[in-house]
Amino acid sequence: MNIMSATNKATADQKAIGWDGRTLVEMITESERLFADTGRYWGIEDLSIKDKDPIKYEKIWSRLRGGLVGARETALNISASPIVREIGELCFGLYTPEGDSISLSTGIMAHIHTMSEALKHIVRADYESNPGIEDGDIFVNNDPQLGDVHNADVQEFVPIFWEGELIAWAAGVTHEIDVGAPQPCGMPVGTVNRYEDGFILSCEKVGSSDRLHRDYEHRSESATRMPFYWVLDEKCRIAGCHMIRNTVLRLIQEEGIDTYKTFIREVIEDTRHAFVNRIKEMLVPGVYRSPSFMDVPHAGDKGVMPDYAAVDSLMNCPLELSIDEHGSFDIDIDGANKWGYHSFNCTPSGIQGGLWVTLCQTLIPNDKVNDGAYLATTFNTPYGTWSNPDNLSVSNTLSWMFLIPCFTGLVHSLNRGFCGRGYLEEIIAAYPFTGNITQGGGINHHGHDGSWSNFEHSCSGVSARWAWDGETSCAAVWNPEGDMGDVEAWEIIEPALYLGRNIRPNSGGFGKFRGGSAFESVRMVYGTDRQLLYHARDGHVHQCSGIFGGYPGSTGYRHTIKNTDMKERIEKRLPYPVQDVDSENSQISANINADETFDRRLYHYPDPHGEYDLYLSQICGGHGLGDVLERRAEMVAEDINTGHLLERYAGSHGVVGSRVEDGDWTVDATATDTLRDEKRQQRLAQSQSVEEWMDSQRDRAASLDYNVPVRKMHRESCELSEKWLNNYRSFWNLGDDWQPPTA
Ligand code: MN
Repeated sequence: MNIMSATNKATADQKAIGWDGRTLVEMITESERLFADTGRYWGIEDLSIKDKDPIKYEKIWSRLRGGLVGARETALNISASPIVREIGELCFGLYTPEGDSISLSTGIMAHIHTMSEALKHIVRADYESNPGIEDGDIFVNNDPQLGDVHNADVQEFVPIFWEGELIAWAAGVTHEIDVGAPQPCGMPVGTVNRYEDGFILSCEKVGSSDRLHRDYEHRSESATRMPFYWVLDEKCRIAGCHMIRNTVLRLIQEEGIDTYKTFIREVIEDTRHAFVNRIKEMLVPGVYRSPSFMDVPHAGDKGVMPDYAAVDSLMNCPLELSIDEHGSFDIDIDGANKWGYHSFNCTPSGIQGGLWVTLCQTLIPNDKVNDGAYLATTFNTPYGTWSNPDNLSVSNTLSWMFLIPCFTGLVHSLNRGFCGRGYLEEIIAAYPFTGNITQGGGINHHGHDGSWSNFEHSCSGVSARWAWDGETSCAAVWNPEGDMGDVEAWEIIEPALYLGRNIRPNSGGFGKFRGGSAFESVRMVYGTDRQLLYHARDGHVHQCSGIFGGYPGSTGYRHTIKNTDMKERIEKRLPYPVQDVDSENSQISANINADETFDRRLYHYPDPHGEYDLYLSQICGGHGLGDVLERRAEMVAEDINTGHLLERYAGSHGVVGSRVEDGDWTVDATATDTLRDEKRQQRLAQSQSVEEWMDSQRDRAASLDYNVPVRKMHRESCELSEKWLNNYRSFWNLGDDWQPPTA
């Protein structure tokens, strides 16, 4: 026997690491067969521990969940990155040997199933044989095509063994400041394919014996602009995973391996049951439709982006939720349009990220959360669309940008169900988009080639609820414990000083109850003449809407001033602008005689800035609920007096009042009643029936007489989806032969 054959023999004889002598591939195959045959996880019929000893069952759950939350709270202090330390942009989870989620910590719960997808890739691709899975190994992944949302979210996996068997995976994820793309920052805008997405690790083995491999350390030290944060975040994730491993091993020492093995499968089946029961309890069977849209305005980037990518386009998500009387929960986005040469494409795994972070906070905020709930749902992401591209080289750096509005649509659908069932206190007018994402890079104020991704947008306004206004600057859909972070923490790594942070009036959507306001930041580039800056948020299109007649939160605008006189103002101790607040009366425009950009193109190729340039970032406010003419007039006055509404918009609410000297703005009740009566009469006079309106628009609909991006979107959807084409034909009554015009 030659030496190579001897090596191969040894591998073949190696004991499988699955349970009872099986390989992991055999385990996942059997698990999937049993679920397909029985409809139950591992075919489990009886919840043996829960039924016999419910206290013990809950105790084991609480210890595992507590271990995960404890790992997160401790490990985040190891990170130096303000995104992780200040904002808490991390999360830990525990998974079965086959990669099914058992339990999850608090934090960015989006990753409950994305990490499951990555682990299932490790199992299905038979990493057990090559490169091998051993006690003390460390795997890392940030490839959205294998299991992630975007490559800024880096995931770590540590296998947990007991007497030679793999009994679980500990997993952790953090969001990185820089991903080593040609454009600096963690979530570049203007990337046109995957080869511009930067550092991508496709479920790689990067450590053994609880230590990172030196070759991987060297590679990550040179692959991104901020290696210090990358490496410390990696240590944070590994430390958390090792704490989780200790929790699991201690639990097994006390409860026994058989109890543990039974528990982890039972709790997933129990959660599947609980999810189905929750659907039956909270929602009404039927088909719910909630579309959303996003503008991708790259036509203004001609010359810096390739011609085929420098175009304006519109993305659509025709989200349809179907629920039957048995508690099924099936989502379909058939009709979504084509992927594009931009940063906002998604993968089926990323879609699951958006789904679970939404459901954790709406439908199942109090229940156990794991892949049992995933098994109770289906999600169709049609091939060839932005949600499941038929081209593996598309860019994914900013998948979240359209995922957020898509799942806001889902919240609208859930609201209608809650309303139908009478659970009015559960209703929230969807989540706002979370932006503006301020990012940048170049030579920084420390003289290094650095980059940054500011995360103060995790403190958006929250939308209105059934009988309450939304909270001001509070949270983001993807991080329910949102925080804006201290300005000093951001200024350590960002060469842009904060001149002011203010509540942004009119940012929350109007309504009987208004969306929570957000804030704005005015920044000044400092200590460098070479900074690229980006915006990222809605500009031309309301991506989401209010509910029951409430208006959406405001869209954003760019307001950037270059070549300012700030240097002179600072030297001469003259007043300088600290706020924009009101676009018609902005300190930024009023005081600075310089080059001003004022437009709605919020997604754009990075824009070069120099020292003393001013940059405005407006965070998104929440959406409104109910008719604005039903808002109590005193609440409108309070909004004006507390800076949530500009005085000249009182009339939009049908409210009349005045300011007493330098004091408060007060309501004129009689004049308000009269104005509101007039406005209601006006509405009646201007209204037309839906039938009349549709008749008047049918010719436009038939000829796709829309602007270029909208026409292109319709054509793509018709081409990709028979269902969508038929819906369009029947909705507009165009006949069965109608085809979208080609010209
Ligand atoms: Mn992320």
